[in-house]
Amino acid sequence: MSCAGAPPDRRQRIEQKAAQKVAAESEQLLAALRQREDCRPEFEAFLRCLSTTSAASAADAARRSGRPLLKLLCVQAPLELIHAAGFHPFRVFSGSLAASALAAGNLPALTCPLLRAVLGELRLNAAPAAGWVLPATCDWVTRFPEMLRLCEVDDSSAIWWLELPRLKNRADGRERWLTEIWRLKEFLERLAGRGIGRNALLDSIAAYARAAAARQKLRQARIEGRLAPLWFMLVMSAFFLDEVSAWTASVERLLAVLTPQRTQARENGSGRVFLAGSPIVFPNFKLPLLLEEAGLSVVADDLCSSERIFPGTTVVEDESLFGLVSALAGSYHQGCLCPVFADNERRVNNIFNQRDEAGFQGVVFNVLKGCHPYDLESYSLEAPLKAQGLKFIRLETDYTQEDRQNLLTRLEAYRGIR
Ligand code: SF4
Repeated sequence: MSCAGAPPDRRQRIEQKAAQKVAAESEQLLAALRQREDCRPEFEAFLRCLSTTSAASAADAARRSGRPLLKLLCVQAPLELIHAAGFHPFRVFSGSLAASALAAGNLPALTCPLLRAVLGELRLNAAPAAGWVLPATCDWVTRFPEMLRLCEVDDSSAIWWLELPRLKNRADGRERWLTEIWRLKEFLERLAGRGIGRNALLDSIAAYARAAAARQKLRQARIEGRLAPLWFMLVMSAFFLDEVSAWTASVERLLAVLTPQRTQARENGSGRVFLAGSPIVFPNFKLPLLLEEAGLSVVADDLCSSERIFPGTTVVEDESLFGLVSALAGSYHQGCLCPVFADNERRVNNIFNQRDEAGFQGVVFNVLKGCHPYDLESYSLEAPLKAQGLKFIRLETDYTQEDRQNLLTRLEAYRGIR
């Protein structure tokens, strides 16, 4: 379905058709979610945020926040700094199968499907923004500007790179990262045409700390079976689509009405699992829906599209500007569990620690075809997890529905149904 290089009228037809399919994917999932017995009015704020394609949602996010967007890939750029500069930090992720198919012809066959979908959506609508901040995480992200050109995306926004030290336990790595964050601050100030003051940064840190506290309560509600895992993921998916304080207020309204429910998975601990691996992005909720169908309940996860969509609370000990920037740099670098880091033993320990809290018996590891960091990690995690008595299943999938039955069969066998 590639359209780059095609005559203009053919290209327009292909893009119009793709845009209709992209919109239909979201609408179908949203309609199905609204029909669920456990849907309640408090979810509507999040469903509405997700009611357009991500490119159109970007325009909505700018309108909701009243701020120009600053587009991001990955979770390493401190959101508080971007917010304090007057921008709305907007993570451009896409779970659209149709958008992924649109960009496929212009890219290598094994391109990360998530980025392929992002490029497809940007091809349809480049989502005007003040700029991009790209942390040099995996190889696909580092080639992202080239992929924008290959897909003929009409996006002239300024790009700012964050060079990410892959060794975070070394002092020189931490110092280099701190320098990167100061340089990011200068870039944001140039873009905004004004300085980032200490008070503005303190306010932004406080706003994201409130969001982190709300997320923590939401996690607890999921562990206790008061919130279905699918809804947890949906609420997190809406995070970048709303102004941070508005999202927090919507979560608090939801928390106020969540009451204990006895689910099958709560009755039987064997259905409680931890979900790890490549991100799962709306509307590609194939795996969460299959997990439900197989009687598995995700009581905790470490996905950068879900529980880890933004880092934890930044601990501020020194309220000077230097202290605030240093605290942000530390929390985003040290706290990040992405497998692109070379020294990241904390990742497996995080799963063990969460087992005590969430009481799961197994780990489901999602690998998007072409996502090399998580693919490789799935092999190195399997042995230590099994050695600690956790069941483990690795599921490799793409942005397609064709492997649905195969995945379901494997999940049912894992659950012990078949
Ligand atoms: S880490 Fe994986 S999912 Fe994320 S951008 Fe890289 S390849 Fe894609």
